[in-house]
Amino acid sequence: GHTYEPAGSFALTPHFFDVEAVRRDFPILQEKVNGRPLVWLDNAATTQKPQSVIDRLSCFYQHENSNVHRAAHELAARATDAYEAAREKVRRFVNAPSINEIVFVRGTTEAINLVAQAWGRRNLGKDDEVVITWLEHHANIVPWQMVCAETGARLRVAPVDDSGQILLDEYEKLLNARTRLVSITHVSNALGTITPAEKMIEMAHRYGAKVLLDGAQSVSHMRVDVQELDPDFFVFSGHKVFAPTGIGVLYGKPEVLAAMPPWQGGGNMIQDVTFEKTIYHGPPQRFEAGTGNIADAVGLGAAIDYLDRVGMYNIARHEHELLQHATEELLRIPKLRIVGTAKEKAGVLSFVIDGHKTEEIGSYLNSCGIAVRSGHHCAQPILRRFGHESTVRASLALYNTHEEVEKLAAALRQLH
Ligand code: PLP
Repeated sequence: GHTYEPAGSFALTPHFFDVEAVRRDFPILQEKVNGRPLVWLDNAATTQKPQSVIDRLSCFYQHENSNVHRAAHELAARATDAYEAAREKVRRFVNAPSINEIVFVRGTTEAINLVAQAWGRRNLGKDDEVVITWLEHHANIVPWQMVCAETGARLRVAPVDDSGQILLDEYEKLLNARTRLVSITHVSNALGTITPAEKMIEMAHRYGAKVLLDGAQSVSHMRVDVQELDPDFFVFSGHKVFAPTGIGVLYGKPEVLAAMPPWQGGGNMIQDVTFEKTIYHGPPQRFEAGTGNIADAVGLGAAIDYLDRVGMYNIARHEHELLQHATEELLRIPKLRIVGTAKEKAGVLSFVIDGHKTEEIGSYLNSCGIAVRSGHHCAQPILRRFGHESTVRASLALYNTHEEVEKLAAALRQLH
């Protein structure tokens, strides 16, 4: 029989977190940059991959590669089994009731565009309203602007307070009988704010609106349960949870997905085609036209297995300690201002230093081997809300260490 055994050090239990053991599972962390050990603090942009994910891709191409669902031969069965097993892993990862609610897409951006086009065009009309927040990534702004322009619906935006947290009273004032959809981020990629998603979803439902929750920045940091949170759609990108690029997930409630027309037409998504009439598959196949990203979906399954072994609770606790440590260190640096100071934060430290351009800080840190992002983080409105066109963003993941936080702070002190 053909089986796959992941490699790596799994000396980890629900009660024990050994960051050095975790680091050994990520080969790229051994890289040197400008003669210094790589310090990867650009995790909000993309995450590094554990050996078990890299091996899983290689194993797929060595032993299982085929198109899925269509052929009678052995490799089609192996590839289909691996692909559908990955779907089951994703289902468990977000605690969806059924695999039929898990649609594979290219990433968060594609998932939101799919909902905007397939759900939005059918359900939005003139003077209907879509509510987003000031915190959104461009991927959760532009698709709604596009579909609003097509349908005559209006886009409304819930504001934040000076810490970067949603003003719930203001949010509630935007909700009314015309609100069809609320589309909000779970964690802000620019500031790190954890939004009160569960409360916001419940409030939206009271007005009969559907809710999309953008989990691109939450799934690598915290346990997500779609039955507890209760969004109608939940979306995320594989590459931000230690899986390959080019694979992502759209979860949708069964009755919502079932009432949605397809987005793209083609192979895989049909039951029967004649020139007169085509009968579509039900979800999820209806939304997976064409050959999907099979190997990378399997890689996403391996990343989820990895996170299961480490434990999301361990990860959340470790990152919380790192974030606190990093915040204290940065606040001691003269003229440094942290942008986004909400009490509830995950993974992200955005900052500016008076007298230094963010690009200059970014390339200086690069010369020290430290990778951060400087720029607008695809979230221009929220940075402008705080008076910035650009910030430096250090973003954390499970493999970052307290020593790396201190290296960042030491490097920034040298800047003066
Ligand atoms: N939403 C948020 C909150 C993000 O941080 C990102 C990526 O930076 C996206 C959406 C878009 O994700 P992707 O580029 O993987 O489609």
